[in-house]
Amino acid sequence: MDLVSKPCKELCDWAETPTPRDGKKLFECSGCGSQWMRGEPWTPRQHDGTTPPAVQAEIRISQPWLSFGSGGS
Ligand SMILES: [Zn+2]
Repeated sequence: MDLVSKPCKELCDWAETPTPRDGKKLFECSGCGSQWMRGEPWTPRQHDGTTPPAVQAEIRISQPWLSFGSGGS
């Protein structure tokens, strides 16, 4: 079953849902109704353009080489 994917808008606010799917955390955007979980080919963004820390943690599980944010080393 496909996840819902819509263009995110100013109201977007991602949160983990209480119901995992396929053993992975399922996230949902309260702004546009999109859904995301690890393995999707795109990355959720908040209304302010950032990626939620909980989403970053999920992505790092499968793609640990990715880095986020502007924080220096
Ligand atoms: Zn959204």
